[in-house]
Amino acid sequence: MQFEELKIIPSILKALNDENYKEPTPIQEKSIPSILTGKDLLACAQTGTGKTAAFAIPTLQLLCEEMGSHKTDQKSGVNQNIRALILTPTRELALQIYESFNAYGKYTNLRYCVIFGGVPQKPQEEQLKQGVDILVATPGRLNDLITQNIIDLKNIKLFILDEADRMLDMGFINDVNKIIDKTPIKKQTLLFSATMPPAIARMASTILSKPDKINI
Ligand code: AMP
Repeated sequence: MQFEELKIIPSILKALNDENYKEPTPIQEKSIPSILTGKDLLACAQTGTGKTAAFAIPTLQLLCEEMGSHKTDQKSGVNQNIRALILTPTRELALQIYESFNAYGKYTNLRYCVIFGGVPQKPQEEQLKQGVDILVATPGRLNDLITQNIIDLKNIKLFILDEADRMLDMGFINDVNKIIDKTPIKKQTLLFSATMPPAIARMASTILSKPDKINI
């Protein structure tokens, strides 16, 4: 199987070629066509399987295809053009996901931003003001910025919950639920987890609608 067969657009294929990715990993082969159809997804996969690219590549492609159809609210000071949100439990993962978007999306016009706690908020606010299509965030700092009306999630089309089981272990589930409440009901949701404990299975059944299921 080649990336071309997954109907990836040329601007992303070129970036994957720069990364020297020869062919999709099993999770990419399964998840990319599914995500591109717009369906929800429940994926059970460990780190190291290529799961970041498995959601980053189709996210970039869906937003590129949607480009231009979106209108920003010029009157409001709040950043309102965030169309994809990736929630992940740690700063390290957030940075790694952000770097992946930068790499795979370098020939697109999309804009990315990463936010996490434990560092001053101001530089993140400044970056948000430049306009952001794809936001990678940890739950605590994102909730802080939502509460201060610095971030608005009302234009979210695609919501990705990464490492859901670790979110649970780290006590982030309430934060995650609060964030989900701020996103539109109509959106595509992808849930990635290394394990599927009952609490995550319950959460999946609440936040996903008729998802495709992948187990790697
Ligand atoms: P992840 O599971 O997302 O942490 O990815 C693990 C590693 O696999 C990362 O270093 C990626 O750069 C690399 N990787 C992801 N997809 C591919 C691919 N299709 N071919 C080669 N390497 C890849």
